[in-house]
Amino acid sequence: MTEMSTTKDRPILLDVKDLKTYFFQRRGVLKAVDGVNFTVRAGESVGLVGESGSGKSMTCLSIMRLVPKPAARIVEGQILFNGQDLLSIDESDMREYRGSKIAMVMQDPQTSMNPVFTVGNQVEEPIKLHLKERGAQAMQRVLDALRAVRIPSPEDRVKQYPHQFSGGMRQRVVAAMGLATSPELLVADEPTTSLDVTIQAQFLGLIRDIQKEHGTSVIWVTHDLGIVAQMCDRVNVMYAGRIVESAEVQKIYKDPQHPYTKALLDSVPVMGARRPRLYQIDGQPPDLRSIPTGCSFWPRCPAAMDICKTEYPPATHLGGDDFVHCWLAEK
Ligand code: SF4
Repeated sequence: MTEMSTTKDRPILLDVKDLKTYFFQRRGVLKAVDGVNFTVRAGESVGLVGESGSGKSMTCLSIMRLVPKPAARIVEGQILFNGQDLLSIDESDMREYRGSKIAMVMQDPQTSMNPVFTVGNQVEEPIKLHLKERGAQAMQRVLDALRAVRIPSPEDRVKQYPHQFSGGMRQRVVAAMGLATSPELLVADEPTTSLDVTIQAQFLGLIRDIQKEHGTSVIWVTHDLGIVAQMCDRVNVMYAGRIVESAEVQKIYKDPQHPYTKALLDSVPVMGARRPRLYQIDGQPPDLRSIPTGCSFWPRCPAAMDICKTEYPPATHLGGDDFVHCWLAEK
């Protein structure tokens, strides 16, 4: 977890309200994001965790208004950024937000970079576009951004192409592209998936330092609860397109409320722990075209009751911004 443990008193930067993003396919409507609510405060690190297909990445693409069209559409909700609803502004205004105020670091640096342009050109692009800086001024900012992500000899490296960088270095360049314009919010979608453990640790330390220096808020999308423990102040656990539990990071590790959160935590290997075998969550996540009625986790939940199969549990508020959707907490 970050050292910013008092972020709960800070102003809200991002307020996502009842967000729904659906895919309209020939075989039916796929509810990738189905009523998501969460906030990110200034300087706060918020984790979005869950299995593949739980809606984490699509929630982030919705915030960026980059959902794959025409199949996907944001059908409902509000995304308030400093009070401005990003869903009500036109595309040219959104382009201003994207890159200058909100930046995204994607999973795969290979696909985020263009192999035929130099690294310098690519880091300079958002600076030219959003900060309207050119020439020596823009290049100075490029060098500063590369220095901030600890790229050695940036003056030489700007002239090189992506294939001349290692995987870890490429991921740093992608982070530099995102951070060059000093955004208020960084959306990091599994940014360390392609890195080995040592490089991953360096990259996480780097983002933490940058965040501390600039007060940047971060959304971490990950299925890795180890990263959440290291990096986040708050955790939102997603299942089948919804946030089923939201809590401060210490609280969720100490006293998880939702059976799915408990199962996720139980399935993490703990060094030195003597367990006969690692816990595995039974069954598969639901097909998002036919989500079970009631609580979508009931077919896999060891504590499921009759009411779980018919009615979706409302949010039970647990103090502060914390909440859980589970009939056990209601009772
Ligand atoms: Fe399990 Fe019921 Fe809680 Fe869903 S609402 S997690 S099925 S106990």
